[in-house]
Amino acid sequence: MQGCVISIEGPWCQVEADGRLYRCNIRKKLLFQRDECSGPVVVGDTVLFEETTPGEGIVESVLARRTKLSRSAPWAHGKEHIVVANADQLLIVVSIKDPPLREGVIDRYIIVAESGGLKPIVCVNKADLAKDGEAASVEETYGELGYPFLFTSVTEERGIDKLKGLLKDKKTVFSGPSGVGKSSLINTLQPGLGLKVKEIRQAVRKGRHTTSWVSLIRLDMGGYVVDTPGVRELGLWNITGSEVAEFFPEIWEMGKGCKYTRCTHSHEPRCMVKEAVQKGTVGRKRYESYLRILNSVEKN
Ligand code: GDP
Ligand code: ZN
Repeated sequence: MQGCVISIEGPWCQVEADGRLYRCNIRKKLLFQRDECSGPVVVGDTVLFEETTPGEGIVESVLARRTKLSRSAPWAHGKEHIVVANADQLLIVVSIKDPPLREGVIDRYIIVAESGGLKPIVCVNKADLAKDGEAASVEETYGELGYPFLFTSVTEERGIDKLKGLLKDKKTVFSGPSGVGKSSLINTLQPGLGLKVKEIRQAVRKGRHTTSWVSLIRLDMGGYVVDTPGVRELGLWNITGSEVAEFFPEIWEMGKGCKYTRCTHSHEPRCMVKEAVQKGTVGRKRYESYLRILNSVEKN
């Protein structure tokens, strides 16, 4: 049978197939075939398994991953840890106030998403707390660059229908700083689920490491959501300095005119990107965020 891995619990994983859940063991041979430090099976994997007794089975193989949300493994320098496989999109949830929007945080999440093949969506929640001008400038930046963008407010029920439309029948990873309203949003989509998200997070904090820190949660309207921790824990994986600009479309475009083909747009003369920042055609905040990410990547 073919199914999707919903969660991992120690040596077991929960596999969903045809709307039913199976508690599955993993074939020993798979343990020796893995080449990352992610375990042989990750949440979101499509697997082939055999039903051994009703409701239980054994995973025989893992199919190729269409997308992967990866991070640099905190416990093994330079190694990839796949957090979720086969998700369609990353919903980047931030707020402008309470907590305040940290500069560049959206840009980092965009890199995490796009480098793994996920579509980034920028969601500014707590729209009820933001002043019009502040909210508009975020929309201008990311909307103009072509990223799907939405404002939501759980308290005023704003943007919820649009959010539902974007999530329906998709596998969406929710990510963003703590306190921005991720559980509240999930709860508004489907009452009761936000609570489940909180329980999973707390179980992880209490150090029940055998339980995976993410799981796919099914939406009644169709689709799944996954909750992941903040970007601080989603350290960029496998990105080199020369690649950072690829994730900043406006900088990438301008950079084609620089004197040096390998211009990093930081210290080189006759850099079109720096000129564009002077002229205001490339946003200063985006440029500064680019430089910070470039710096952090090169330090690693
Ligand atoms: P998470 O850590 O991202 O899951 O955030 P929570 O969902 O736990 O929300 C953190 C706090 O923000 C809670 O007190 C929520 O009631 C509140 N909150 C969530 N969404 C909104 C919103 O749209 N507007 C306002 N004003 N508060 C919100
Ligand atoms: Zn340049």
